[in-house]
Amino acid sequence: MIKTETLPHGALDDVPKDLLIGGRFVGAATGERFDTINPATGAVLASVAKAGAADVDQAVVEARKAFNGPWRSASPLERQQVLLRLAEVVSRRADQLALLDSLDVGLPLSLSKGAVATAAKALFAYSAGARMIRGASIENSVSADMLTYTRKEPVGVVAAITPWNSPVTTVIGKIGPALAAGCTLILKPAEQSPLSALLLAQCCLEAGIPEGVVNVLTGFGDAGAALTSHTGVDKISFTGSVETGQAIIRASAVNLKHLTLELGGKSPDVIFADADMEQAVPGAAMAAFTLTGQFCAAGSRLFIERKIYQEFVERVADFGKRLVVGDPLAAETNLGPIVSDEQLTKVLGYVKKGTDEGADLVSGGSRLTGEVYAGGYYMPPTVFGGVHNGMEIARNEIFGPVVSAIPFDTVEEVLAKSNATQYGLASGVWTKDINKAHWLASRLESGMVWINTYNKYDKSVPFGGYKMSGLGVENGIEGLEQYLKIKSVWINAAAPA
Ligand code: ADP
Repeated sequence: MIKTETLPHGALDDVPKDLLIGGRFVGAATGERFDTINPATGAVLASVAKAGAADVDQAVVEARKAFNGPWRSASPLERQQVLLRLAEVVSRRADQLALLDSLDVGLPLSLSKGAVATAAKALFAYSAGARMIRGASIENSVSADMLTYTRKEPVGVVAAITPWNSPVTTVIGKIGPALAAGCTLILKPAEQSPLSALLLAQCCLEAGIPEGVVNVLTGFGDAGAALTSHTGVDKISFTGSVETGQAIIRASAVNLKHLTLELGGKSPDVIFADADMEQAVPGAAMAAFTLTGQFCAAGSRLFIERKIYQEFVERVADFGKRLVVGDPLAAETNLGPIVSDEQLTKVLGYVKKGTDEGADLVSGGSRLTGEVYAGGYYMPPTVFGGVHNGMEIARNEIFGPVVSAIPFDTVEEVLAKSNATQYGLASGVWTKDINKAHWLASRLESGMVWINTYNKYDKSVPFGGYKMSGLGVENGIEGLEQYLKIKSVWINAAAPA
């Protein structure tokens, strides 16, 4: 039987457990609820409302009402002020939000604290976006008496559907630009991570965001699917798997929704023999193992120049062995558990496939057991050597702490191999040769390239994928534009007859 957790610090006492619709917390129309589990122990954390189609309908009504009502008439300055108040409330509740993500999905507390602090700062950046929206006055060639200008207008009701791997970051990454643009929002957080989304819902109320502007529906994929096929929703901003992204494209055809899709990756991280090894070894290891490998931009295909291949593989494996895997709430922990039993089984399935395909398991690869890991879904950093690009472990996104090391000889060869994937989210290049770095940066088929670094993000810098890794971008003015549509206005300004 699953035990119910004894919680630290009464962390869940004031976290809402119901849906936020039209400014009020309400149970699901069906009365259904679901349990959210702590992956570090396997114990139940809380029972929360499970949204269904009727709740989606109601949330769309409220979001539309707010869009056509008070929110439509809110000035850019008022929207900026609302986001600034939200930033303040989130900053005030930062410790609690971080703890919720650590409990719900096993993020090491040091990491989730950093992520919440960054997300709060991001709200300051998004608030500035509210005052950066501008159209253009355009010279046309129809007539000197004809004036033309463009207006940028909010797309309308946005459904934000988010994954579990870095909950507060992803949720705020959608609330921020949607509100800055003047949209209203219905958030459907991942079923594995409802708690911080519900506390953020409370934060929205505390920040005085008008009712119906932000609605939060905790639930499963069926609630997400109901949103994506609802004709009252104008845009989907989605972060998650390619398969769900494809389902969303199909469902959203019903009313040609605007789409931003941030999907998976199988990112190449390229190590040249001339790289600074003191930087590249930890850089490559953490590119693969951060968040226990559960992030879309993970550098999970590690291409290493052949003359340093053996040594580099061993050094990455050794680095991995020194990382502390354990209780997300313990200060010394570097890597927490895998998010669920199901996900752990999937990752271990890939490890088996790798060995079956003939790759060389250099380190890790098995579930961690023993008293400290009791009930939790733990595995160590895992390094495969002798991998080639055709193997399943080099083709599919594993979403676990597993890296595949692949040797190469020439820069042309590593470019071809790096690009030989359906994905195109991120790439890493480690070299002291500036020509090689720029040559690759312009040819790698990915939305981001990191040179002598990895996993860097900023709210001013666009984030998005090429190929099957996504559509559109988040962050920066380019990300804000995705929540706006453009209207051209023609004025006949001929002199009166
Ligand atoms: P992951 O593999 O990271 O869990 P998913 O794509 O399955 O990624 O889930 C990401 C989010 O999409 C979650 O909030 C999930 O509930 C939601 N979701 C799952 N299936 C669908 C669907 N068919 N339509 C819309 N949202 C969905």
